Amino acid sequence: AQAQLLQSAKLAAVGELAASVAHEINNPLYAARNSLYLVEQDLPPDAPQRTFLTIAQQELGRIARIITRMRDFYRPSRGELSSTNVNALLRETLELVTTHLRHNHVAVHAHLANDLPAITAHADQLRQVFLNVILNACDAMPNGGELTVKSSLIAARPEAPAALAIAISDTGVGIAPEHLPHLFEPFYTTKPHGTGLGLAISAHIVTQHGGRILVDSQPGSGTTFTILLPLEVPKVE
Ligand code: ADP
Repeated sequence: AQAQLLQSAKLAAVGELAASVAHEINNPLYAARNSLYLVEQDLPPDAPQRTFLTIAQQELGRIARIITRMRDFYRPSRGELSSTNVNALLRETLELVTTHLRHNHVAVHAHLANDLPAITAHADQLRQVFLNVILNACDAMPNGGELTVKSSLIAARPEAPAALAIAISDTGVGIAPEHLPHLFEPFYTTKPHGTGLGLAISAHIVTQHGGRILVDSQPGSGTTFTILLPLEVPKVE
């Protein structure tokens, strides 16, 4: 819990800073990308400098993606708490990525409990979480595979109130044990063009809802992310 709190604080600090400088960075970034584009237009097709130009362009592209993600997350209108149908959100999210999944030869299995109660939540933020986790699952299956999305109700127990469990599983590459402790850290990525922000932001959102994200992974055979969400967001002092 302490580590999670630190993580949240770290992310919030990074985010506030990013929101305030995003605008300042965007203009020079655009100028730099545009200038490289103009240089590229003037180079002969076989110029050896093209390799370096490509690297510079890719890295600037990465900066642009990081800035966009942070700005979107810290935009003031973060949506209202409202009665939210999680199954509907999951269906919407899957709908949004259908083409992408099909293109990547990923088959989808949805097992959504039909007696799921609505929860009090920021629907837009939860949609973002589901999207992040589903897109990661897809990335983990470069040669296609199976994506399974399950929702269920966990009854109240003496130590925990009633909650929804959303399990998102893939049959992908899995996660090496040495990566597991770092997954939710901002900027931790193993992808050449990743931002390492998807899970950090997702964990932050789920924590704000009083929930948790759990990971279970078998390297070589797949990963399950389980998102636990209490029916009501607990009041914070
Ligand atoms: P990004 O996707 O930009 O790398 P994330 O924070 O979403 O950032 O993910 C961090 C890292 O966690 C990824 O780079 C990847 O190594 C690992 N990861 C996340 N989801 C999965 C998954 N379903 N299977 C395997 N690895 C995963």
